Amino acid sequence: MGSTDRKEQIMRGIPASPGIAIGLVHRMVFDEPDVMPRKLAPSEVPQELGRFDKALDQTRAAIERSRERALDVAGVAVGKIFDAHLLILADEVFHDQVRARITREQFDAEYIIYDSFGQMIEVISKSAGEIFRERAMDLRDVRTRLLRFLRGEGDFIPDHPTHEVILVAEDLSPTQALNLDRELVHGIATDIGGLTSHTAILARSLDIPTIVGMGDISGKVQDGDSIILNGNSGKVILNPTEASFVEYKEKRERFRSFQRYLEDIKNQPAMTLDGREIQLWGNIELPREAESVLSHGGTGVGLFRSEFLFLTRETTPTEDEQFGMYDRAAEIMAPNPVVIRTFDLGGDKYHAGINIHNEKNPFLGYRAIRVSLSRRDLFRSQLRAILRASARGNVRVMFPFVSGFEELREAKAVLEEAKHELNQRKIAFDPNLPVGIMVEIPSAAIMADRLAEECAFFSIGTNDLIQYTTATDRANEQVASYYRSYHPAVLRMIDMTIKAGDKKGVHVGICGELGGSPAATPLLVGMGMTEISMTSAMIPEIKKIIRSLTYEECVRMARKALRMDTSQEIMTYMQRELKKRFADLPIWFS
Ligand code: PEP
Ligand code: MG
Repeated sequence: MGSTDRKEQIMRGIPASPGIAIGLVHRMVFDEPDVMPRKLAPSEVPQELGRFDKALDQTRAAIERSRERALDVAGVAVGKIFDAHLLILADEVFHDQVRARITREQFDAEYIIYDSFGQMIEVISKSAGEIFRERAMDLRDVRTRLLRFLRGEGDFIPDHPTHEVILVAEDLSPTQALNLDRELVHGIATDIGGLTSHTAILARSLDIPTIVGMGDISGKVQDGDSIILNGNSGKVILNPTEASFVEYKEKRERFRSFQRYLEDIKNQPAMTLDGREIQLWGNIELPREAESVLSHGGTGVGLFRSEFLFLTRETTPTEDEQFGMYDRAAEIMAPNPVVIRTFDLGGDKYHAGINIHNEKNPFLGYRAIRVSLSRRDLFRSQLRAILRASARGNVRVMFPFVSGFEELREAKAVLEEAKHELNQRKIAFDPNLPVGIMVEIPSAAIMADRLAEECAFFSIGTNDLIQYTTATDRANEQVASYYRSYHPAVLRMIDMTIKAGDKKGVHVGICGELGGSPAATPLLVGMGMTEISMTSAMIPEIKKIIRSLTYEECVRMARKALRMDTSQEIMTYMQRELKKRFADLPIWFS
């Protein structure tokens, strides 16, 4: 069935990466090798075990190369996908099982690997939910690379298009997605996946308009079909009419000019029409991401999540290693500030070097500053590293998960010990290193007026503040609808914290996801927030909003929202207000 005899058809999915693409379909399949068992002679077993070990080494090296490439072209979030692949490959228990099966069953390594991975994939695929589906895809991706090395075929080369296309697939494996040619692939549509799926993360990093979770688009198209994809709205038009082509070419042009506008204001201040300047900063997990903050027009790092230095390795990082990382971030950002948050391990972030018992309520348990205060060795070494970086760059330290004065004072006492140790070693540091806390536990927000007396700054962590204010586990999909970012109680906590800080002359910023949410910007500005830290990619849009409003308007909107009863009311109100003013923002660009 060719495209010419087909009618225009509209399909919808989840918009995962913005932009509009118009072109021809190229279907991409995940090409997994077929494997038939080959019986070995007993004498062949040792050689087969050797082949397995060699393929493991080759695959590890290949995944490490992918990881490096991911970090270079797509950033840390994508790098982490390949960290997960390295962990799959490093599983010693799995290696032992494969070796034991080759020895016992006397089948070739390809078959044993194919089958052993297959059993894991089958078990995981039976579980519902995105995380399990992704995990199954990760296993298939690693298995394919391993099998190809065993067969001497070299690394997995995805079936690349050779002309400009819009890719349609059931799903893309991380290796496939990483190797896409940005020049040729103008858009991606997949049957499965959600906003945080690997394909979505990769597509956003590579800046390719993408829609995921389309159901069965791959079964409905053929190579060469005409297609329009709107990554802003989630709409796909198959076999578009002439009128649709005209409409979407125009939309594409408007969107491109919006992007050019964002590029133009990159180096302009985030200043309201009546002259109030807001600092827009970026959140980072590794030093190299500071470059992305700058390239998006950010003027500081409001949250360096230092626990990521732990999460990509099995041992704990040394003081020197940490100093190198903090110093690097400060050097990239200089003379702008870098706020280093001390380790926030626990909750859902574990590390082999930290003894966290199986807890019934990890988010209410041994987490963040609580871990630091009971592991003084690690804490002091981190504080020494931060202090050393403060001698050379504009660095600030921030304690997470502070519930009140007890932890703040205790943490500051440990900081004094770290200073004393450096003095003894005659190592320089900034004696006035600014010390702040995250306000992410309701008790800290309630005590903010008093805590402000002993802090240089506050940064509101809405991700946790929402979780603890509404008693909703932020990682539990089952109760996701109760996790209300615009809950009036959350807004009141934010308002209270800003007012408390203002009274004592303490700088108040925000570093939770709400900071990167366009509908929240006028509210935050209107409540008096002067620094907003977010995922770098959101900085230009948030800047556009700030530059298009007066502070007075923002104050009015915030006051009105603070009088509302439900998050739904507040969200509807803000969306209406923004839609009136910003018809061209990508989220409303349908
Ligand atoms: C927060 O809680 O809002 C925050 C920024 O910290 P994290 O997401 O790392 O807990
Ligand atoms: Mg937090």
